[in-house]
Amino acid sequence: MTRQDQFERRARILWIVIICGLFVLLGRVAWLQLIEGERYFRISNNSRLRLVPLPCTRGLILDRKGEKLAGNEAYFSIGVVPSNVADIDELIKCLDEFLDIDKGIVKKRIQEVNNIFRPVWVKKNIDLSEVTYLLEKEEDFPGTVILTQPVRSYYYDEICAHVLGHVGEVNQVELTANSTFGVEPGDLVGKMGIEKAYNSYLQGEKGGRQVEVDAHGRTLRVISEKEPLPGDSVYLTIDLEMQRIAAEKLGQRKGVVLIGDYETGEILTLVSHPSFNPNLFSWGISEDEWSKLAQDPGDPLENRALRGEYPPASTFKIIVAAAALEDNIIGKEDTFFCSGELLVGNRIFKCWKEEGHGRLNLEEAIIDSCDVFFYQLGLNVGMDKIIEYSRLFGLGEITGIDPASEKDGLLPTREWKLKAKGEAWYPGDTVNLSIGQGFLLVTPAQMFRVIAAVANKGSLINPYLVKEIVDSQGKVVESFSPAGGKKIPISSSVFDFLGKSLRRVVRVGTGWRAENEIVKIAGKTGTAESSDEERPHNWFIGYTLPDDAPLAIVVLIEHREEEISIATQIAGEILSEIFDEN
Ligand SMILES: [Zn+2]
Repeated sequence: MTRQDQFERRARILWIVIICGLFVLLGRVAWLQLIEGERYFRISNNSRLRLVPLPCTRGLILDRKGEKLAGNEAYFSIGVVPSNVADIDELIKCLDEFLDIDKGIVKKRIQEVNNIFRPVWVKKNIDLSEVTYLLEKEEDFPGTVILTQPVRSYYYDEICAHVLGHVGEVNQVELTANSTFGVEPGDLVGKMGIEKAYNSYLQGEKGGRQVEVDAHGRTLRVISEKEPLPGDSVYLTIDLEMQRIAAEKLGQRKGVVLIGDYETGEILTLVSHPSFNPNLFSWGISEDEWSKLAQDPGDPLENRALRGEYPPASTFKIIVAAAALEDNIIGKEDTFFCSGELLVGNRIFKCWKEEGHGRLNLEEAIIDSCDVFFYQLGLNVGMDKIIEYSRLFGLGEITGIDPASEKDGLLPTREWKLKAKGEAWYPGDTVNLSIGQGFLLVTPAQMFRVIAAVANKGSLINPYLVKEIVDSQGKVVESFSPAGGKKIPISSSVFDFLGKSLRRVVRVGTGWRAENEIVKIAGKTGTAESSDEERPHNWFIGYTLPDDAPLAIVVLIEHREEEISIATQIAGEILSEIFDEN
């Protein structure tokens, strides 16, 4: 073999080696490209900059004296960063073995997330032993992280629920509305009460950290950081101590206690029962718990003070009396006769006192709450005037305590009846209206305004629940002062007369159960027909006399169980305990 041959042979072998090598390389490339391409693409794409959101703490809600009603407590949760999970099913299986999670829901949460670099919680409130176990076995659970999470906490459970409301996971509608606050799917926002109405203050602003990470998602360095901004705190006009007293006296009865300053409109107590525990919602309420609450016949989620609509019954006689006096339909000495019943058209309308009250004047009729007197007075005043004066006292419109959820009751008119019932307005309708029955419906909040106007002699106050909003540095962001109430165009002599009569209602009339040695109370009772004839609704609306403190009170008992005017008794007990403590 010549040297030439030898050379050519070696060159051929070299070519074969090169070509073989090329094939191997090409095969490897094809393999990478086709089979593992997606994984490598993901890793290279990830190993760059990443924005890690920094959560902010929700502002506190406090009572007027600074007592914390709603705050945040730190709990451990376990989360998964979807971008770092290789096999979701395998991970979920491993997690379920020691955490007992709802596999379907967790998988859905991980798959449907918008930002795959952001941790998604899979189980909240895990205990320390579970935390330790996870930290020790970190490698068996790729993609999981331990999160310390502030959780909304309500310190007095049911007692303040309807004032505070609760939080819940943001929905699509709220996401659009809240877009400027950096709210993302999975975040909690206020869903009811103060939590909802003042969400934009309480929410705060998320911060963020821009970091460089390696292919495994580990942070290499922090590039820039924006501190989160905690939410503002909301100071309420509510007095926790009074709220507790009211809730305790109301007990297990269905009903409302509303107490406020009749000069400023500050609400000091708002209790609606049955109630619910807002803490249930802070962890994300389960479907079982939710349907139990939503289907409860006691309607625990309903704020009866603002949304319950009832006939005002005899408490409405205050407005009929005011209209009659102001329009000179009746003088203070004029009388009507009560035989126990009155024939109007072909219908008999009865007084609550079967044997009748005999002859009485306006003050006596208020003190004894004579129905037949007011039937006759109402017919003389006329329905149009009665409705006109009802409007002056704020009926038929919301009070403004919570504009988003309040109801406005029903102030019937001739046009309304024609439309709703297809009938004209009959004298019998006026008779019913005169004692606050028939079509007329009011909320306890509206009656609070009515009795406050009587107490302060003619100013229609604007009741409110929030005193001040303060940022995390203690700076006052916004403070609320009483918005000057509309002046009701009724002479002060009429209010003087009403005030004197209502004091006598409690001293010697139907409101005697509220009379006590600690605080002087004036007010009016009412017993309203309800769907259950045996168990009417029971009202007391009243106020304390000026030498004490300017408090107005509304107590409404829905379907009372007791035979007596229990609302009046409860009002007396609550006010005397409040004034006894001071
Ligand atoms: Zn009578």
